[in-house]
Amino acid sequence: MITAVFGDAILDPVSGETTPGAVVVIEDGRVTRSGARDGVQVPRDAERLDASGLTLLPGLIDCHVHLTNLGEGLDFARELTTPPTLELMRAVRSARRTLDAGFTSVRDAAGTPAGVRMAIDAGYFPGPRMFVTVSALSQTGGHTDSHFLCGADLDIPLPDRPYMVVDGVENMRLRVREVIRAGADWIKLCTSGGVLSPGDQPHHSALTVDEIKAAVDEAGTQGRKVMAHAQANAGIKNALKAGVATIEHGIWLDGDAIEMMLDGGNALIPTLVAPHWVIRHAEAGKMPAYAIGKARAVIDDHKASVRLAIESGVKLAFGTDTGVGPHGSNGEEFLLMHELGMEPIDCIRAATSVAADTIGMKGVGSLAPGSWGDLIGVPGDPLADLSLLARPENVHLVVKGGEAVKSKHTANT
Ligand SMILES: [Zn+2]
Repeated sequence: MITAVFGDAILDPVSGETTPGAVVVIEDGRVTRSGARDGVQVPRDAERLDASGLTLLPGLIDCHVHLTNLGEGLDFARELTTPPTLELMRAVRSARRTLDAGFTSVRDAAGTPAGVRMAIDAGYFPGPRMFVTVSALSQTGGHTDSHFLCGADLDIPLPDRPYMVVDGVENMRLRVREVIRAGADWIKLCTSGGVLSPGDQPHHSALTVDEIKAAVDEAGTQGRKVMAHAQANAGIKNALKAGVATIEHGIWLDGDAIEMMLDGGNALIPTLVAPHWVIRHAEAGKMPAYAIGKARAVIDDHKASVRLAIESGVKLAFGTDTGVGPHGSNGEEFLLMHELGMEPIDCIRAATSVAADTIGMKGVGSLAPGSWGDLIGVPGDPLADLSLLARPENVHLVVKGGEAVKSKHTANT
């Protein structure tokens, strides 16, 4: 099948250039030609997709989501009465909403089994291209240890979602092997405490450098990289020393941590919007008290830390932790990144070319010939108005692999 998408303009995130009167030709899921209309030959038998009034750009990438999390606050009674199959089915709705918001690729940062990625690839339901981490590994009492003070453990291991608690180097190797066996594309570790877990603190480090190294080594042996939930300064540094690829959240970066990231070429995935959602849910009475206090305590330091990273030239890749907030709301992160000093083009790069490079997903984040035909259309110039990417209703067209999966033009006629 050949599709030709005719838009008002096309924005190339790499060059930052906007070409007016543009067309993108997609054959059998891959871009074969793109650019100004007069320079691109459109095959006679191409199906013509009218995107007049829209600026076209590559489909967006979110490097940190949780598709099986509802994103509607934390309600333990609800979780206790949710069977694993229902939890899994949440991903179907999340996947659709993510796609509708213009995000055609995501890296899931735990909770979602590999079967969801396989189902989307098989066409069972619409959703973004996915990399999954399956289970987020943390130490006893750490961020993903779901034991509560009453003694109950809410982490029920499934055949395709291994147990998440791990202590010691040998045990870490075993756990990483289990997660890879379950289909993980990336390994997720928690090298510090977090906001939504009851028994730990964001400013405390977790796992030893040796434990993290064992995970990095084991992952590397099988062609995977490690992403670290790392909020505490020491947790960030331990993760970097041990060789992880990406730092998630990064609430307490300092000059030394920045230096390490610049030297190692590591990316920061800020997830600035996540603590805002914790506070919004709290104000709606949908958050336990311990999480509210922690979110309020970190939000300003988080901003200062990310601002420092931007000023220092650290590589920033777009990620939201959506699943804390509702699916489809991912784009708000653009506004927060811009507020902290990132130029609009750099915000867009963070969610396209830089994100693709960071997570190592081939053929996404670009409309160059050979890339997957994933693109979006927005009514105006996103470089002049980032809010065009911030709200799903502004994303009028979403094409994945050459197929229109959302089209306001079609819906209106
Ligand atoms: Zn997360």
